[in-house]
Amino acid sequence: MSSAFSSPELGFDPDALRATYRQERDRRIRPDGAGQYRGARGEFGYYAADPWTARVDRDPKQDRVEAVVIGGGFGGLLTGAKLRDAGVERIRMIDEAGDVGGTWYWNRYPGIHCDVESSVYLPLLEEVGTEPTWRYSPGEEIRRHAVAIAEHYSLYDDTMFHTRVTELRWHEDDAEWQVRTDRGDDFRARYVVVSSGTLSAPKLPGIPGIETFRGHTFHTSRWDYDYTGADLHKLADKKVGVVGTGATGIQVVPHVGDSAQHLYVFQRTPSSVDVRDNRPLEPGWTKALQPGWQQERMDNFLTVVTGGHAERDLIGDGWTATAALQRTFLSGSRTELSDEELELADFATMNRIRDRVDAVVTDPAVATLLKAWYRYMCKRPTFSDFYLQTFNRPTVTLVDTADTGGITSMTENTVVVGDREYAVDCLIFATGFEVGVSGVVSGTLPVYGRDGVPLLQSWSQGPRTLHGFYSHGYPNLFHLGSLQNANSVNFTHILTEQATHIGAVVAEARKRDARWVEPTAEAEQAWIAVIRANAMDNYRFQAECTPGYYNGEGRPRPVNNSYGPGPVAFHELLRAWRAGNGMDDVLAETK
Ligand code: NDP
Repeated sequence: MSSAFSSPELGFDPDALRATYRQERDRRIRPDGAGQYRGARGEFGYYAADPWTARVDRDPKQDRVEAVVIGGGFGGLLTGAKLRDAGVERIRMIDEAGDVGGTWYWNRYPGIHCDVESSVYLPLLEEVGTEPTWRYSPGEEIRRHAVAIAEHYSLYDDTMFHTRVTELRWHEDDAEWQVRTDRGDDFRARYVVVSSGTLSAPKLPGIPGIETFRGHTFHTSRWDYDYTGADLHKLADKKVGVVGTGATGIQVVPHVGDSAQHLYVFQRTPSSVDVRDNRPLEPGWTKALQPGWQQERMDNFLTVVTGGHAERDLIGDGWTATAALQRTFLSGSRTELSDEELELADFATMNRIRDRVDAVVTDPAVATLLKAWYRYMCKRPTFSDFYLQTFNRPTVTLVDTADTGGITSMTENTVVVGDREYAVDCLIFATGFEVGVSGVVSGTLPVYGRDGVPLLQSWSQGPRTLHGFYSHGYPNLFHLGSLQNANSVNFTHILTEQATHIGAVVAEARKRDARWVEPTAEAEQAWIAVIRANAMDNYRFQAECTPGYYNGEGRPRPVNNSYGPGPVAFHELLRAWRAGNGMDDVLAETK
């Protein structure tokens, strides 16, 4: 235990902080919980329309491919790459977007950057030959890298964009899946990979009167550059409102604040905003490194942040500095600190971040409103060297909406908070995304497995998988995501391990000429027992957190479905499984 936390001279009163956290949480709890939001559908469907690529008419396909990958984000791209390496020839990638990139396709708002270091976040750098130019890459660099992966692995050969898969049906006699889409396609695929993301559908607050607003509005994930101008110069004569101060709001606000005639930032809960220290990288920086450097850095970051033994911290940033505070509540693995010590460490970190607000923001009343009163991992921690500074501009107004549960209402041209009205020309929703599970898990993509049994019927008592990847009764169907698998702030690393595993299983299936890939009922049951026995227990932590999508808007679910000991242990388990007799549990059937 660090002496700073055992000292009787803590310099703060834990009881007082606990009471403040509780009070701040309670005034933000809403009775309607997640029901306060509305999806960008129906009359709000235009908030989800694709501003980047025109939809092209095409004839429906009725053919046969070896693998279909649903989702063109990094999960789908990585799996496509690993299937290619495994020798799979016809791979069809399908996405509702107009190109690959997933979240980096949709989100192109000014200021967008990845908050995880580019050397570990952008997958397949060495394989593709991309050299990030910034320590924390701008979104466009990441999107271009996604395109480069698709090109490098010839994944564009057979893509279907602006297409949504509407049904998957297994045909036992042919040992293949029938795939139907909203473009009338009806084709067959031997393997199906579902990687359709977790935070992709934009959501809007259900503000009374939102539909009456006649000013301009859009969601940050569909930035309207026609309205703002590429460099936002068209905002110079506009009063603009930004709703939301999460990870997106923090990146957008400095740019809009720089450009708008006046900016109103409508805040309900402040984010914790730590130092970013982004910087350009020396051109050629990757040339001096030994092959395998990226895997080494990724492994090091994962180990430092989520648990395991690391001699050194190769990244040394805001994530690795707060590793102990993330481990237990995000990735599962415990630290050597007791719960009490962890809480004290958390208080100390949050105090430092709150002190930073006072140091940066000149108006003490505004600084008070910008302080986050909750534990570090209650919300996605953020990093910025520009956000807090924006509130020192005379043209930027922070509007606190905590006491009114958010914006009270909207009229034709104003945003109402309590008894005050703010006239705005444009309102930008940085209000996040519907909390994701893939369509397979939510039921929007029906899956009929062996004997036509719907997947959700066989999961009626909870998800049933082996290692999160596949389920008995649903041959050759693979899932990506953290369900019964692993999690980390660097999710592309998790996806890399998942894609590697799927690629290895398919390669072995091809080698053995297996009829299909399907876990035995016994192997699946054994994994469910392991997940239950090791479930990460963060219910109490989440219940005490300020509301947000991490805790079901203040209503956390008691069961967490990730592998409790954490991702490093999980990846070791997968490697041992592959090196041992594991494949026998999923490749029992031969042709
Ligand atoms: P969030 O869901 O995190 O934030 C939504 C914001 O909208 C919150 O500040 C919320 O307030 C506010 N809000 C919602 N309803 C109202 C209302 N009625 N009145 C006022 N305010 C309201 O969405 P983000 O897009 O910011 O982030 C989503 C996730 O995307 C992140 O957690 C992160 O995982 C990812 N992301 C990652 C980035 C990266 O660099 N890797 C960058 C950006 C996003 P409240 O908190 O009170 O609910």
